[in-house]
Amino acid sequence: MMLDTLKTLLAVWGPTGQEGQVAQELQQMLADKADAMRVDVMGNLIVEKKGQPGGKTLMFSAHMDHIGLVVTDIEDTGYLRVTNVGGVSVDSMRCRHVAFGNGVQGVAVCQPTKGETAGMQHLFVDIGAQDRAEALTMVQLGDVCVFAPDCFPVGPHRFASPAMDDRCACALLAELLLQTDAPRNTVVGVFSVQEEVGLRGAATAAYQVAPDIGVAIDVTAWGDTPEVKLPAVKLGAGAAIKFMDRSMIATPCVRDALMAAAEKAGVPYQREILPFGGTDGGAIQHSRGGVPTGTLSIPCRYVHSACETIDMRDMESGLAILKEFVNGEY
Ligand SMILES: [Zn+2]
Repeated sequence: MMLDTLKTLLAVWGPTGQEGQVAQELQQMLADKADAMRVDVMGNLIVEKKGQPGGKTLMFSAHMDHIGLVVTDIEDTGYLRVTNVGGVSVDSMRCRHVAFGNGVQGVAVCQPTKGETAGMQHLFVDIGAQDRAEALTMVQLGDVCVFAPDCFPVGPHRFASPAMDDRCACALLAELLLQTDAPRNTVVGVFSVQEEVGLRGAATAAYQVAPDIGVAIDVTAWGDTPEVKLPAVKLGAGAAIKFMDRSMIATPCVRDALMAAAEKAGVPYQREILPFGGTDGGAIQHSRGGVPTGTLSIPCRYVHSACETIDMRDMESGLAILKEFVNGEY
């Protein structure tokens, strides 16, 4: 079930560059259904389902990594100084519950800024240590913390979690692999690493897979809360099919094939034109001599905060679109 898969993946610790536990969880989930499965040098999990003779190779990418804070210094008082791994804003970090990979928990805090614009230099993490020596028994320089795992319902159709970006897409891709039998085209599901620091895993994965067509699956921003208008995307109105963002102009034939798949599946979808941001699609499209590439997006409010919120109806729409897409004639 989609929701169970989602909840399982949201609970796994996995900051950018340390996605191993997420890959392990997915390997267990998919072991019985995959024709081939491997983890590459970068840490990407690459799962294959063979298609029919004459079919094409379709690569889908969903990133496993999650933004976090890395410890840069430990003060004599025991407080940790940190900087961002990926797109973390100070605003989203004020008095938030954070967790390290070894189980140590703490509170990220922004100190008084005395009139300066708040920056990473104003953030510290309080892990309850009385001094530097005690802190060093709990964490080391270079350790990374993320928003502590959480997942709670918001209204009848929605869930919020700090890891929706991009575990909701990992859940969608996992369900696609689990629910697809004997597709026309070979489906290669890439659960990628290091998206949040520049689409690094997808770049090397796309080179290895050398797909005929690429599709990134990721969250996108929202335009349906007070004073937020762009993109013109709403929660609950279906998955979004991307036209462009800052990393990619979707290849028209792939974009149109995704929309045709939605029509054929009879599910709602939205057109997405995002004036900022990027996805693994940007890296896939640039791979080798170029790969025709599109992106399927799950609308997500409050991206890169502890309360990233999605609508399960958009997940169902996205899954229906991709199930149709893998059987298309290309
Ligand atoms: Zn993402």
